[in-house]
Amino acid sequence: MQDCIFCKIANGEIPAATIYEDEDFRVILDLGPASKGHALILPKAHYADVYEIPEELAGKAFALAARMAKKMTAALRCDGFNILQNNKEIAGQTVFHFHVHLIPRYEGDGVNLTWAQGTLTEEDKKTLLEKLGK
Ligand code: 5GP
Ligand code: ZN
Repeated sequence: MQDCIFCKIANGEIPAATIYEDEDFRVILDLGPASKGHALILPKAHYADVYEIPEELAGKAFALAARMAKKMTAALRCDGFNILQNNKEIAGQTVFHFHVHLIPRYEGDGVNLTWAQGTLTEEDKKTLLEKLGK
């Protein structure tokens, strides 16, 4: 995709701090990190989001996320890890080339990924199961 910054980074046209690369993905350090070591998994092919990416490649991306989490946790000695993936503006996506956030977590790091918990009412449960149940 022309004019997609992550296409250019993933394919090496624009330099980025790369911590892993294979034929499908490049993993780079995020320029605006939530915590020390915050990285992004970028597929080399352009897909805007989870609705577009083929499931097989999405599966590979998550398998890579699991591998990177273990490797980064050992190297950075972080205390935990968030794996995060945003789709569409409402969900916080700002770059419209699929990517997975790898966010190392440290005691007292102040990173806030929380939300106010609601309640699953009986009525909601019923309608949701009607719409989503198997
Ligand atoms: P989103 O909000 O779309 O889930 O995440 C976009 C992420 O990309 C943000 O965390 C932002 O800091 C990062 N980012 C945006 N532009 C660049 C860039 O040119 N280089 C790098 N390394 N990260 C970027
Ligand atoms: Zn792209």
